[in-house]
Amino acid sequence: MTGSVEALDTADFVLVDAGVPLCLVDDPPADAVPDAEGLLRLDIPIADGRIGAPAAHRHGDRAADRVGPGGGMVWPGFVDLHTHLDKAFTWPRRANPDGTLEGALSAAALDRAFWTVDDLRARMEFALRCAWAHGTVAMRTHLDSRAPQHLVTWPVFRELREEWRGRIALQAVSLLPLEEFVDAAHATEIADLVDDCNGVLGAVTRVGAGNDDLLERVFRLAGERGLDLDFHVDETDDPEARAFDRIARTAIAHRFEGRIAVGHCCSLARRPAAEVDRALDLAAAAGLHVIGLPMCNLYLQDRRAGETPRWRGVTLLHEIKERGIPVSLASDNVRDAFHPYGDFDGLEVFAQAVKIAHLDRPVGDWPAAVARTPADVMGFADAGRVREGAPADLVLFQARSYSELLSRPQHNRRVLRAGRAIHAEPPNYRELDRLFETG
Ligand SMILES: [Zn+2]
Repeated sequence: MTGSVEALDTADFVLVDAGVPLCLVDDPPADAVPDAEGLLRLDIPIADGRIGAPAAHRHGDRAADRVGPGGGMVWPGFVDLHTHLDKAFTWPRRANPDGTLEGALSAAALDRAFWTVDDLRARMEFALRCAWAHGTVAMRTHLDSRAPQHLVTWPVFRELREEWRGRIALQAVSLLPLEEFVDAAHATEIADLVDDCNGVLGAVTRVGAGNDDLLERVFRLAGERGLDLDFHVDETDDPEARAFDRIARTAIAHRFEGRIAVGHCCSLARRPAAEVDRALDLAAAAGLHVIGLPMCNLYLQDRRAGETPRWRGVTLLHEIKERGIPVSLASDNVRDAFHPYGDFDGLEVFAQAVKIAHLDRPVGDWPAAVARTPADVMGFADAGRVREGAPADLVLFQARSYSELLSRPQHNRRVLRAGRAIHAEPPNYRELDRLFETG
């Protein structure tokens, strides 16, 4: 990085020669021409913590108030649309016995006994500090909402959301197996809790479950309260799984007006082409928004002891986007029984997704999947984009091309928040050791 790094701490300045993906720039200057990878070379003024009007980069300007990424990439802060902060970092206490989804579900059920206020708060805060250091500006988390856990977890979430306001914007989704909506009283209690917390109503839908009436109930509860929806959908290799289609049909039948996000959708990739075609028609008509979770899917899907996996577990990212259906990419589970790796780093999510799902010939507008697109789903018009007047929440990389960007973890990135460098590092794992000491 050229120019004075200190300038990032002290004054208004111009970021000179920033390589910004075209898909992340609102109103790009007419004379800025993207390179072969779709990057614009821009000079971006930063004043009073906000982004000014970007201009096409002019060579040879060496004014003192200019800070040069030197052709390095500049991205808006990351938006992580699907996480599980309440499960994060439990791996040392509750590893997955066999690496399967069933193994993860049984491990998580056992671990929930330890989810006190103190335990949740320590792990969730740790997760937020990781995300903050990597340059994340907004996150949505699912929260296990079985009774009576919801009475412990949601208040902790609300406290943390207040404490982190202005750093990471937080949104919560209630996470319940769809079958639990059979208890109408609890279902209503959860919907009211979500409403009271400006949250999103969610459910996990399972293979072949004949419980369309319960799906109807979820839509009705959301519709009555004006809530958005976010489902875990078809997280399986079973080509008979149809929750994706059922959700789309129900949304159309209800003329549902809120936003509907569907995460995972793994088994779409295992269904016959003609069926996929019809399912995507339905999804487009219903206005579904798909969230791909490649890291967790790669870990859990197609796993059998002693065998090498034959497929990568991800949904049909290319085909879905080709239909004009918005697609985001997100962390999902981090260091828990569902996925023992990850660090709430939007760049890692993007880098892994590019490699797992071939999002790179060309990369094109895929960067929007960890920035602009999820910000739209969360209703944050200023986040995930370089826009005049938006807060200068930016991530500066040395890397000048996608090959440079995706070849290293970029731990030397500079994160700017409101135009100032934050100088944060991910916290030390040892801080959490006290939670895992057994008597
Ligand atoms: Zn999930």
